Amino acid sequence: MAKMAKQRDLDLSRPVAVWKSQDLLDDEPAGSLTVILRTRGCRYNRCLMCGYASEGAPATEENLLAQFERAMQKFSSQDQMVKIYTSGSFLDPAEVPPQVREKILRALQERGVRRLVIESRPEYIVPSAVTECLSNIDTEFAIGLESSNDLVREKAIRKGFSWQDFVQASKTVHDLGGRIKAYILLKPPHLSEKEAVQDAVSSARMAANYAEILSLNLCNVQRGTYVERLWERGEFRPPWLWSALEVLKSAPGTIVCDPVGAGSRRGPHNCGRCDAAVADAIRKHALSQDRNLFEELECDCQVTWRKLQDLEERTFGSPIV
Ligand SMILES: [Zn+2]
Repeated sequence: MAKMAKQRDLDLSRPVAVWKSQDLLDDEPAGSLTVILRTRGCRYNRCLMCGYASEGAPATEENLLAQFERAMQKFSSQDQMVKIYTSGSFLDPAEVPPQVREKILRALQERGVRRLVIESRPEYIVPSAVTECLSNIDTEFAIGLESSNDLVREKAIRKGFSWQDFVQASKTVHDLGGRIKAYILLKPPHLSEKEAVQDAVSSARMAANYAEILSLNLCNVQRGTYVERLWERGEFRPPWLWSALEVLKSAPGTIVCDPVGAGSRRGPHNCGRCDAAVADAIRKHALSQDRNLFEELECDCQVTWRKLQDLEERTFGSPIV
C-alpha cells in the first residue's frame, strides 16, 4: 500500500520506536518494554487498513541486531515483559533471519525476561520456530485475526488467511506450551458501526476459545491506505469509543485495548468532550480488567451515537457523520 520509507532518511541501526509501559502479565500489571524493529516489512502487505509498510527498509542482519542492542539500552530489571514488533511477522525468516531471531531470544533469556510477546501471521507459526522461541523464553504469539468471520476478514480487510489457519496456529502453539494473543479489529471498512460492534463481539467470543488473551484494536486511518481513501471521501469513520466499551464489556475472559489515537479525527473518537475520559478508562481497564470503570462514564453524545447506529442501518451502511 504505502511507499517504502526513503532509505537516505533512515538510520537502519535505530529501531522505529522503543518505550516502557505497564502491561498485564498473568493478570497482574508488570513493567514492559516495547521494541519496534525496522525490518524489510510485512511480506503480505495487502491489508486494507494497514500503513506500516511505510516503515519498511532493507535492514541487514547487522542492522537488525544493532537496532535490538540499542533498544535494550532502555531495558531494566523491572521490565518483566518484552514485546518485539516488526510491523510484520517476527517469525517470517525473510523478515527476521533465523540467526538474528536466535540471538535476540538468547539475549532476552540471559536478561531474565519472564515473557516475550511477538507478532506473526499464522503461516509462519510452524513447530520449529515456535519450539525455538519457547526453548528460550515463555512466549506469547500474537496473531492479527481481526475477525472470526471469514467473509469480513477476506472482503473487508483482505487479510489473506482463514479462521481455520488461525485455529491451526493456535493448536501448534498450545501443543508446544506457548500462549496466544488474538487481535480483534473494530471496525473494518464497509461495516456500519452496529455491524462492526456485532462482528467484534462475536469474534471475541469465538477467539477466546483459542487465545489466552484478546486485544481489541480500534481502527485508525493510517496514511497511504485504502481506508484513508474511503475516509477522505467521507465513506469511513473510525469507531466511536462508546462502541469499544460495548465490545470490552461483553467479551469473555481477558481483553485489553490501547486506544491509540483516541480523540483525533483519524483515530477512534466520540464528541471531543468525553474522549479523554473514555480513553483513560479503557487504558485503566487494560491493567485492572475492572468493568466498573465504564459504569461512571456519561456524555450527551451517547444519544447521538445510538441514533446514528439506527440511521446507518437504514442507509445501507453509509456513515452519517
Ligand atoms: Zn461525548
